Amino acid sequence: MRIPLTTPLFGIHGMGPGFVKRLETLGIKTVRDLLWHFPARYEDFSKIYKIGELEPGQHATIQGVIEDVSVRKTWKKQITIVEAMIADESGTIRAVWFNQPYLATSLKPGRLANFAGKTSVSDEGEIYLNHPAHEILSQKKQETRHTARLVPIYPETKGLTSKGLRFLVQPIIKNVELVAEWIPQEVLAKFRLPEINLALNDIHFPKAIEDAAVAKKRFGFEDLFLLQLYNLQQKLKLKEQKAPALATDIEWLKAVIEKLPYELTLSQKKSLWEMVKDVEHPRPMNRLLQGDVGSGKTVVAALVAIIAAKNGLQTAFMAPTEVLARQHFETLKKLFGGVARDVQPITALITSSDAKLFRETDTVADVKKEELNQKIKDGEIRIVIGTHALIQESVRFKNLAFVIVDEQHRFGVKQRAALAQQDGKNILLPHFLSMSATPIPRTLMMTVFGDLDISLITELPAGRKNIITEIVPPKGRSRSYEFIRSEVQKGRQVFVICPRIEVAGKEPAAKGADQPSLISQKQSALWDVKSVKEEYEKLSKKIFPDLKVAMLHGKLKPKEKEATMKQFSSGAVNILVSTSVIEVGVDIPNATIMMIEGADRFGLAQLYQFRGRVGRSEHQSYCLLFTDSDSQSTKERLKALLEAKNGFELAEYDLKLRGPGELLGEGQAGMPDLAMQALQDPVLVKTSREAALAILESDPKLKNSPPLKEKLSEFEKALHLE
Ligand code: ADP
Ligand code: MG
Repeated sequence: MRIPLTTPLFGIHGMGPGFVKRLETLGIKTVRDLLWHFPARYEDFSKIYKIGELEPGQHATIQGVIEDVSVRKTWKKQITIVEAMIADESGTIRAVWFNQPYLATSLKPGRLANFAGKTSVSDEGEIYLNHPAHEILSQKKQETRHTARLVPIYPETKGLTSKGLRFLVQPIIKNVELVAEWIPQEVLAKFRLPEINLALNDIHFPKAIEDAAVAKKRFGFEDLFLLQLYNLQQKLKLKEQKAPALATDIEWLKAVIEKLPYELTLSQKKSLWEMVKDVEHPRPMNRLLQGDVGSGKTVVAALVAIIAAKNGLQTAFMAPTEVLARQHFETLKKLFGGVARDVQPITALITSSDAKLFRETDTVADVKKEELNQKIKDGEIRIVIGTHALIQESVRFKNLAFVIVDEQHRFGVKQRAALAQQDGKNILLPHFLSMSATPIPRTLMMTVFGDLDISLITELPAGRKNIITEIVPPKGRSRSYEFIRSEVQKGRQVFVICPRIEVAGKEPAAKGADQPSLISQKQSALWDVKSVKEEYEKLSKKIFPDLKVAMLHGKLKPKEKEATMKQFSSGAVNILVSTSVIEVGVDIPNATIMMIEGADRFGLAQLYQFRGRVGRSEHQSYCLLFTDSDSQSTKERLKALLEAKNGFELAEYDLKLRGPGELLGEGQAGMPDLAMQALQDPVLVKTSREAALAILESDPKLKNSPPLKEKLSEFEKALHLE
């Protein structure tokens, strides 16, 4: 009988419980999970070399008889060394292993075995095999897993060796049930993709490297194809939906814009116009407003909200954090008080801890949540600003026409459907605008946001100065502090960003040598990262005892956060020490220095966001990147931030260097790994889109491809689980 894909791994013969546990920490629980845990690369040990032919630094498999085995310990460090002499008809070679005493039990003199690994040269000039993989053979022409072939190397995890995984995967792959193909035959044929069972075999145990590449292409294609199908279907579905048509009196809008405290940039006007045109149709707008940090997206969105209010309808404005929701509330308060007196939309802030509203510029009132909810339900409140709690909680709208989502890329179809309004017989969906400062390269945009139309703000408001960015090594610290002091004396303000909130405890002690710690190196390196609390103490007591220093992090109560932000934005606080909670959107024009501790801990996109917090006024601004790291790659990465002309250039760089996950934020993108990689392959992106378009054109509901339809609905579910 064939092994079903759903078989739990502990039910597989020969699986040690320790191994099962370690696999589980990787999320691998069933045969299916295991088979979909793909190798990261392959090593070519396919040719068997003669020992006499070996050269230094070569990756090779040899086949020979074990002649002699010895085990000894080094005198100083007590490391166990196993050595074996191996002979074939062309010569002998020594193989060496450190700290694997158990090898001595399988490496018995007289046995025939393959050894695969890299040759090294000793001080005496002798060529030897360093830590080779080995496989004892019972006969010469036996099928091998670890040697004498293309050998899969799995992503590295402590306590799980590639050798161990190969042991497991090979017999399973031979005996597993056939996997049902769900990509339509004509698509496979047209794009020359291998059938799924073949691909599965070839991705683990390819005969030639080309087979592995083709298999990988298939799996990468899968996710892109589904994503494209999903997006295109969404787009089609949306076209059939209804939304409230929002009329705009152009003369009135011009007058409103005239009264703004600044002139809108050309691309702000253009983006606004695109939206005005969109919302006048009774079809839901689905748009992404993309613009660099500080390019002025908020005002554009707010103007559309006023249009909705002028039409007597409601807007929901969602921000990713409370800090940001409050800031938008303040911005809109100023904006509406000054420029749209005739509309005077009653505007409310509603977060998990707070509820307030204003009618006119100067009359902000705290209200009970129930009362506010009632007013929203009655349609009296026109614009509601809040965190995501806004749609998750009990807030019900009377006539919601417009939803703005700030700095959050995806907004599920379900979430949107939940906001739909019943108008007689019609279901009306709100118009939707997503705003993002994450500069996304075109290929990515077309795929990940394939269901959205896009407006771009391509320039910053006039008069902004370049932000002077510098990488500061440890010895530059005191000079930087002096500089900060001089800026504060000129009346400016400073952000200090730290990677952690608290000083971490000690690393948990390992429970014994045979139980490898699950803490990765990357994690343990975090133990000595700067913390906000520690830094706050140091700056407020030792370095700047005469200045006002405050601290902000995610564990503070919302009220405390609000008070701190208020003090900072009023200028009462000179230096704000914070975690990445201020990453997105915070707008304090008088702040001119962004100092980042442990800059190497952050992704480029994130650093770019941080830097965007300064340079928002006519004052010269600075970004100081502190790092203790000497590594060349870190320096190069940080240098990209110095050199990139704009966010787009940086994004392309980040995409190449770290993959799309970094750029989009793993959670937000909600994309599987291989698709993430596949996104970097423009050809694959293009083919997947073509394939999806072709299928939907002839069969929009996928009636003729039931397996594909089912797969797509699974994929949708996974997307919405984010
Ligand atoms: P972001 O696009 O990063 O969300 P904001 O909307 O927060 O940027 O705007 C950044 C700052 O620029 C705000 O203080 C805003 O008042 C100001 N601003 C917006 N548009 C203009 C403009 N056309 N001219 C000058 N300042 C502007
Ligand atoms: Mg913003």
